[in-house]
Amino acid sequence: MSDAFDERRRGLEEEYFHRKNKEAIEKLREKMKVAEEAKTAGTSSMKCPRCDGALKESKLEGVSIDTCEKCGGVWLDSAELEQLTSREVGSGFFSRLWNKSED
Ligand SMILES: [Zn+2]
Repeated sequence: MSDAFDERRRGLEEEYFHRKNKEAIEKLREKMKVAEEAKTAGTSSMKCPRCDGALKESKLEGVSIDTCEKCGGVWLDSAELEQLTSREVGSGFFSRLWNKSED
């Protein structure tokens, strides 16, 4: 009696995990597809954190940055920020930016 019940329960568990796995794989595939489509369209797969617009990758002094097509926001990851700030002190991009008003 209980054997049959256990078997049925095991079957349900297996089915549950099988379905969960399938869902996870499908979600992953969907994500990869979106990233792939964005790549071929020339945009990054990232969305703007501010307005949800598409981020377009562009180059600034040899460092790639993400610019929002909608609000014009510029986004960098920490490595990109480091690359920009490590440029020559005094004439670098950020120094020019920060010292602009003092000219
Ligand atoms: Zn934006």
